[in-house]
Amino acid sequence: MTDFSATRALFDLPPDLIYLDGNSLGPLPKAAPARMEQAMREEWGAMLIGGWNKAGWMEQPRALGDRIGRLIGAEPGHTVVGDTLSIKVFQALAACVEMRPDRRVILSDTGNFPSDLYMAEGLIRMLGGRHELRLVDPEAVEDAITEELAAILITEVDYRTGRRHDMPRLTAKAHAVGALTIWDLAHSAGALPVEVGRGGADFACGCTYKYLNAGPGAPAFIYVAPRHAGRAVPALSGWLGHRAPFAFEPSYRAGDGIDRMRVGTPPVLALAALDAALDVWDTVDMATLRQESLRLTDRFIAGVEAACPELEVVTPREHDRRGSQVSFRHPEGYAAMQALIARGVVGDFRAPDIMRFGVTPLFIDEADIDRAITIIGAVMNERLYDAPLYRTRSAVT
Ligand SMILES: *Cc1c(COP(=O)(O)O)cnc(C)c1O
Repeated sequence: MTDFSATRALFDLPPDLIYLDGNSLGPLPKAAPARMEQAMREEWGAMLIGGWNKAGWMEQPRALGDRIGRLIGAEPGHTVVGDTLSIKVFQALAACVEMRPDRRVILSDTGNFPSDLYMAEGLIRMLGGRHELRLVDPEAVEDAITEELAAILITEVDYRTGRRHDMPRLTAKAHAVGALTIWDLAHSAGALPVEVGRGGADFACGCTYKYLNAGPGAPAFIYVAPRHAGRAVPALSGWLGHRAPFAFEPSYRAGDGIDRMRVGTPPVLALAALDAALDVWDTVDMATLRQESLRLTDRFIAGVEAACPELEVVTPREHDRRGSQVSFRHPEGYAAMQALIARGVVGDFRAPDIMRFGVTPLFIDEADIDRAITIIGAVMNERLYDAPLYRTRSAVT
């Protein structure tokens, strides 16, 4: 069981704000500033270079990886933190392509986050352009899994619509044709229970600044299935992925297991914030979190539909087919979202016309949902978005 009023008290949120954007940037855990201050003053300030040994900085990427591992159903010792998600996608993909040298096709879908696709394009270019990134509609992924594939690169929950892929099913199909699977958990980790181990994922990666609340630019994580851990060859062969980093050998030897997915120096200060953010998760049962997320999202969908019929729900209604966000389509979506933000309901906008609301039970409750519905109803029905002020686009939408 999880006490969600207790978890809510662990976040520093402005009063009266309904923050439905924890799927994009989680809020500040109250314990994070003191934990960072401690890392700065007591570790960096007082220990200087000694912090690497005395404060355990070097081991943190593995230790924090395991704490995330619990949330995604990973076997202990097979998840590591570092770099950014785009880089982790590249690493996983490069390893897969090398593990399937006779295959030339990488499959993804048109709903995937662009950076994942761009990283695949860059890798293919580097490999001489002999591979193909094949993109199909999300609904067509299953039928497109064929023996040509080296790997499928799939984001479990669509960042725009909130639609969720059936991970065990697609993984089983990929394995049946000899393809590997890379699951991007950007909108899954901390959003719903994930079982990378039992589900058979070969590689998985995700970020920690969304549902895990570790702060802007917080590092990513990568999981490699135990059966591949000693065989996956890192394309980004940095010194901290070396078997003996402090032997300073002139040539690369891959480290043990998941250690080889490390690249360079860990972001120690950012890891302090992640550490504090993960303390919140230690009290959370993922099954209870999912129940609450579904209860709140059901309520939100029903309420918004009743209040403003002109908003079209694009998130699937079936529980199994969605993550923890709700998206609506509206031609004035951008201006409408700015008008909502001005009234204390913070979601975001994704081109061309998607209004996105993340529902995060750690700090959003039924009263927030009901208040949000009332404000959304007023903004849409009274066309309160119809003002020049709401039409100016910022760089980040
Ligand atoms: C948020 C997100 C990213 C972002 O990658 P960064 O390297 O952390 O900027 C990548 N992929 C998906 C699917 C995402 O949702």
